[in-house]
Amino acid sequence: MNSFSKGALYVVATPIGNLDDLSRRAMDTLAQADLIAAEDTRHSVRLLDHIGVRVPLVSLHEHNETSRIERIRQALDEGQRVALISDAGTPLISDPGYRLVQALRAADYTIIPIPGPSALITALSAAGLPTERFLFEGFLPAKSSGRRQRLGDVVELPVTLVLYESPHRIRQLLEDIEIVCGERPVVIARELTKTFETFLQGTARELLERMAEDADQVRGEFVVMMAPAPEREHTDSSQIDADQLLSSLLEEGVGVKQSASVATRVLGGRKSDWYQRAQTLKDGKPSQ
Ligand code: SAM
Repeated sequence: MNSFSKGALYVVATPIGNLDDLSRRAMDTLAQADLIAAEDTRHSVRLLDHIGVRVPLVSLHEHNETSRIERIRQALDEGQRVALISDAGTPLISDPGYRLVQALRAADYTIIPIPGPSALITALSAAGLPTERFLFEGFLPAKSSGRRQRLGDVVELPVTLVLYESPHRIRQLLEDIEIVCGERPVVIARELTKTFETFLQGTARELLERMAEDADQVRGEFVVMMAPAPEREHTDSSQIDADQLLSSLLEEGVGVKQSASVATRVLGGRKSDWYQRAQTLKDGKPSQ
C-alpha cells in the first residue's frame, strides 16, 4: 500500500460510468482520506458506499468553491488528507476544482493527482481521429449564436476538436457544426463505459439523420469530436470569391461577426474589413 502524505490535497479521478474503472490507488486514497470534497455529496455517497468508504464529506461545487477554499486550507493545515472528487471523471475537466487547486498551488500546498477516467481521453482513444494535436473546448455556449462563434474561431485549425454536450442540445450542436464546418468528419462517443456505449461517425448531417431514425441515439452523455481542417497546400485567396463565401455563410444563418471570423481565417486580411463587407452584403447594398 502507498503511504499517503499528511496535509495534502489529492485530486482523484472517478469512473465515468463503469464503477470497475475506479483504480486501486484511487480507492486507497479515498479510504485513507480524512475529508472528501465532492461536487454533489449525495451522488458521491453511492460510489463511496460501493467501495465501503466512510469518510466525512463536504460539498464543493461551482457556486460555493471560493468559500470552501478556506475550509479545505484549514483541514490541510491540521495535517488532514483531503480528497477532491467530482460527479464523474477527472475533477477540473469541465468540473469544479480549478479555483481550489489554483489557490492551494499558489500557497505551496502539496497537490497530488490520482489519474483515472476522463470522457475526453476515453473518447479520443477509440474515435480513430488524429490525436497528435487536439483542442478540448468542453461545453460550447448554450445559445446557438455563441456556439457558432466559437466553432467559427476554431474551424480552420489543423487539430482534432473535442466537445462535451448534453442530450438536450446535441442536435442543435450538430446543426451548428454543419453550418459552420460543412462536411467535416465527426465522431460521437455516447455513454462511454456504460451498457449502451456507441460510437457514430459521419458528417454532422449524416449523424442528424441517424438520430432522426433512432431516438435512442439522442439519449445519454456525449463527447463530440471533429476531424482537423484539411491541410491547405497554400491558400490562394484570389481563387476564392470572398463575396460568395460571405454570402453563403449569411444565407446559412451565420451571423455577420462569425462570417467575418471565418473569412479572416480562410482569406486572411483584417477582420474589421470582412465585418464591414459582410454587413454590406447582409443589408443588401450593391457591390462597391
Ligand atoms: N470531469 C468529467 C471528465 O473528466 O470527463 C466531465 C464532467 S462534465 C460535467 C460531463 C460531460 O462529460 C457530459 O455532459 C459528457 O459530455 C461528458 N461525459 C461524461 N461521462 C461521459 C460518458 N460516460 N460518455 C460520454 N460522455 C461523457
